[in-house]
Amino acid sequence: MATRVGIGYDIHPRAADRTLVLGGVEFPGEAGLEGHSDADVLVHAIGDALLGSLALGDLGRHFPPGDPRWKGASSLDLLRLIRAMLDGMGAQVVHVDATVIAEAPKLAPLRDAMCANIARALRVGISQVSIKATTNEGLGAVGRGEGIAAMAVATVEASSS
Ligand SMILES: [Zn+2]
Repeated sequence: MATRVGIGYDIHPRAADRTLVLGGVEFPGEAGLEGHSDADVLVHAIGDALLGSLALGDLGRHFPPGDPRWKGASSLDLLRLIRAMLDGMGAQVVHVDATVIAEAPKLAPLRDAMCANIARALRVGISQVSIKATTNEGLGAVGRGEGIAAMAVATVEASSS
């Protein structure tokens, strides 16, 4: 077995007419994010990290933004498909660590629910999923609340290097 690590980053602009979804959790009354799917920026960063750990390219390669199959799709479904891809390669998810960068909303109250959704989609224990939140201290586009960004690292045990 070989331990491999992947990194992921994503950012979406805010969209006032959509509901915010982060880690598969809806935040009622919060402006959502623009995107073809549910624009779950956190799950997208995690998906990219998982794909990256096995050098499988990025999310856009496997789930093209223009593909009608993914219009309005729950990004947790994409995560389930990535998990199936890893299964097919004999790889196991060891740990996922992610940070959401947003001025608002406060994520702490729903952090456990987000971790649980992601752990369920990846079929791992909740202790194998870490989600943190920070602000951009008012700096740049994210600091002005024009978008939400996320970064993630995934550790995977692969059957071969
Ligand atoms: Zn995205």
